[in-house]
Amino acid sequence: MAVDSLLSSPLGPPACENDAEALQFIEEMTRNADLVQEKVLAEILSRNATTEYLQRFKLNGATDRETYKSRVPVVNYEDLQPEIQRIANGDRSAILSAHPISEFLTSSGTSAGERKLMPTIKEELDRRQKLYSLLMPVMNLYVPGLNKGKGLYFLFVKSETKTPGGLLARPVLTSYYKSEHFKTRPYDPYNVYTSPNEAILCADSFQSMYTQMLCGLYEREQVLRLGAVFASGLIRAIRFLQLNWPQLAHDIRTGSLNPKVSDPSVRDCMTRIMKPDPELADFVTNQCSTDNWEGIITKIWPNTKYLDVIVTGAMAQYIPTLEYYSGGLPMACTMYASSECYFGLNLNPMCKPSEVSYTIMPNMAYFEFLPHEPNSSGLTRDSPPRLVDLVDVELGKEYELVITTYAGLCRYRVGDILRVTGFHNSAPQFHFVRRKNVLLSIDSDKTDESELQKAVEDASQLLRGFNTSVVEYTSYADTKTIPGHYVIYWELLVKESANSPSNEVLEQCCLAMEESLNSVYRQGRVADNSIGPLEIRVVKSGTFEELMDYAITRGASINQYKVPRCVSFTPIMELLDARVVSAHFSPSLPHWTPERRR
Ligand code: AMP
Repeated sequence: MAVDSLLSSPLGPPACENDAEALQFIEEMTRNADLVQEKVLAEILSRNATTEYLQRFKLNGATDRETYKSRVPVVNYEDLQPEIQRIANGDRSAILSAHPISEFLTSSGTSAGERKLMPTIKEELDRRQKLYSLLMPVMNLYVPGLNKGKGLYFLFVKSETKTPGGLLARPVLTSYYKSEHFKTRPYDPYNVYTSPNEAILCADSFQSMYTQMLCGLYEREQVLRLGAVFASGLIRAIRFLQLNWPQLAHDIRTGSLNPKVSDPSVRDCMTRIMKPDPELADFVTNQCSTDNWEGIITKIWPNTKYLDVIVTGAMAQYIPTLEYYSGGLPMACTMYASSECYFGLNLNPMCKPSEVSYTIMPNMAYFEFLPHEPNSSGLTRDSPPRLVDLVDVELGKEYELVITTYAGLCRYRVGDILRVTGFHNSAPQFHFVRRKNVLLSIDSDKTDESELQKAVEDASQLLRGFNTSVVEYTSYADTKTIPGHYVIYWELLVKESANSPSNEVLEQCCLAMEESLNSVYRQGRVADNSIGPLEIRVVKSGTFEELMDYAITRGASINQYKVPRCVSFTPIMELLDARVVSAHFSPSLPHWTPERRR
């Protein structure tokens, strides 16, 4: 219930005093977006004025946008690699940032097959925390009574490593969950989780998921919202329940914890939560033992008001599956963030997934926008890039996001393409269009065209002894299976039919492709179990010519036709699937260790 005595916000009446403050902050930031941006840039440039990187561009103390834009180049990760490598190797001088780099955040975007290393500084945690603190006040405007129950969130930490120079390297959420900001967060009735910290912080993904699910089942009637960071994670949790409900029901019936959960701190905390509850065990058994899992989320957690999960961008492919399991519950995409920087939030979180727009918060970093022209890099020597400021983007246009962060990334291309859908006060709102150069994605993995090409080349080496080659290929992210998996269609040229490659050889080709793919893919396969075995579907010869004929009948130019390296259009999939002569799956897991190869 909204508190009438509180100052109402243009966004709506706040639910409590804390919310009023947060909503007022959003108003202030978005009303004064340009001024805030000017200040943020001046602050970053003055504190980092003596860094080696900025000194190189002779700003001579200037902190204004014009000088900055005219002297400092727009860069990508590869451009910064030498500086990043030096920091990773232990050089503590002020290379990118005057504040010490506290750790590296490992992005799911990769460079040369390994996660990109994003430098960060201690105070960035406060900035991220600030953005998190705005999410519930906005949600409370749309969904009343969230203080009357809990959130069942499947949250996980991933493995971390140290760079040669001794800095931690880990994903941004692992860094956040392990921080005091998260672990000792003050009690907030609007933000209570069923998962205990011990379960979230357990590095073993089975033990962590098992205990988080168990707690969610025990508290099933209190659960008002259910989520994971990305849709793929929530679907993985449902799949986990499908596979493990008999043991979970057994634990609930007896009040004793599965011995596979061996982490002492998790066991210790679960003994305080668990008690024998035969009635609940019967309920779980009844619900889960049927074949029909349609609407299972609302059956088990009947008070759930919405799913809190990102289903924009690559995650949109999971919307139908989540609709099936949740009986059509609303899906809230609350925020847009990355390892480089957290960007902003959705001010209308209960809107349809297709209508989600994120409002970039101008206090998070200095933002620029590179007009995005399809089929062009946006940067050519003849015409220098004309980047526009946050408040100057135009409705309906697409841009690539470029950021300057407090941690020392200057005019850094994030690689996300955004479209302007409107404004809140003077702050633009963006639809996430896509990430550049991503062909295939199941979970947080991102495989681009050259990685796929190399994987096909590596795997096809195994066909040499059979006088066979891959003449054409394309791919598809199959999310009908859980977990989803990559499907690669191969058209083969077999020169001696008596010596054609066997099923075993083609299975080894699947594995060879997986070995060749980047470390985020392999981590998903090995540690997270979020990606299933890669599949090669061999299609009969002439299939890709048919594919071209089909494209030409639909208006493609015969001269410019290129084989699409990824397909998702149903008629094309049907054409390909109708020509499949054999299907082969990777027989084992590829190699993956937390250590970086370079
Ligand atoms: P990472 O650096 O691994 O944390 O990945 C960050 C990237 O994930 C962003 O640059 C986006 O491409 C994607 N991403 C993050 N949040 C969203 C969102 N709300 N919707 C769509 N894509 C997102």
